[in-house]
Amino acid sequence: MKTPSIPLNTGAALPIFGLGTWQVKDDKELKTSLRTAIDAGYRLIDTAHIYKNEHIIGEVIHEYISTGRLKREEIFITSKLPLVAHAPEDVEKCVNGQLDALKLDYIDLYLIHCPCPCKHQEGSWIPLSDDKGKLVFDEKTTHIDTWRELEKLYYAGKLRALGVSRFSARQLEDLYDLADVKPANIQVECHIYWQQENLRRVCRKLGVTLTAFAPLGSPGRKSSRPDGNWPDGDPLLDPLVLQLAEKYQKSTAQVLIRFLTQNGNSVIPKSVNPRRIVENISSFDYELSEEDMHALEDKTRIKLFNLDFAIGHPLYADGEN
Ligand code: NAP
Repeated sequence: MKTPSIPLNTGAALPIFGLGTWQVKDDKELKTSLRTAIDAGYRLIDTAHIYKNEHIIGEVIHEYISTGRLKREEIFITSKLPLVAHAPEDVEKCVNGQLDALKLDYIDLYLIHCPCPCKHQEGSWIPLSDDKGKLVFDEKTTHIDTWRELEKLYYAGKLRALGVSRFSARQLEDLYDLADVKPANIQVECHIYWQQENLRRVCRKLGVTLTAFAPLGSPGRKSSRPDGNWPDGDPLLDPLVLQLAEKYQKSTAQVLIRFLTQNGNSVIPKSVNPRRIVENISSFDYELSEEDMHALEDKTRIKLFNLDFAIGHPLYADGEN
């Protein structure tokens, strides 16, 4: 199944649909998921340094390219700079390690993962914590300091497009104004309970594309940090979504994916279940009516993610629209 793309300000095409890989570290499970996804038509894979799975993704992509089943230009890889590698002297080193792990010469889209830089332990990318277990903030490095290093890697051809993740609209606009290479994409929490209306308006104005993370509400999110502060809410069980699934003879996941893509967002639902991987990409053969889109737009707002570990950081702006 071929899915649509949206243009980036670089001229490249961002597939509107791809596979999320957060919390998937098991070698066999991820390889099976990736092969199922690519065979079903997925052409975008979303990863990050912090997911610790870039080497597995690299192996599978290499397997497909080396056997002629895929050309490099047919697959779009998004990855992200960890919050511990924002310092100018760390950026290139980190990106080079990611390129090696991915077995690639370039990454299609590279994002600053989190707006709040923190320090790492000497000689590793493990975050530095104080004696209470709290992250040690890097209060010196600004967004533009990090961006300038990313721009060098863009000009060197190692990163084909640049963007940010979890930035507020204000932070995106500030960076946009200072940047030589303008941000091409922002990746943020976005689903029926958190629709990012203001950020989407700013993105339209600036010509920045938006990728929705947690498009299904990330039902497995709490296991990543059981001691974190996770608001409750499950879009997959929302009564209106259940009703629309019945009406259109689709699954609730297919309704949630269609809603976001019909609004022009790129989506990256994660699944390790082969049946669901195929189900999720089968969301493009129907349209939600205008009336049903409006009804979904009217849902009560609940933010399901937060950056509670970075509260108190000078660049903390989580929840600002
Ligand atoms: P999500 O895609 O909204 O939800 C994934 C969860 O939904 C998994 O537990 C999955 O379970 C389940 N699921 C998938 N398809 C389903 C279906 N058809 N029916 C019912 N359940 C289904 O949440 P997410 O993984 O948090 O977000 C997606 C991706 O966005 C991530 O994987 C990651 O790549 C990215 N992300 C980025 C950030 C950031 O800071 N930039 C933060 C969070 C996520 P199974 O695997 O068992 O199917």
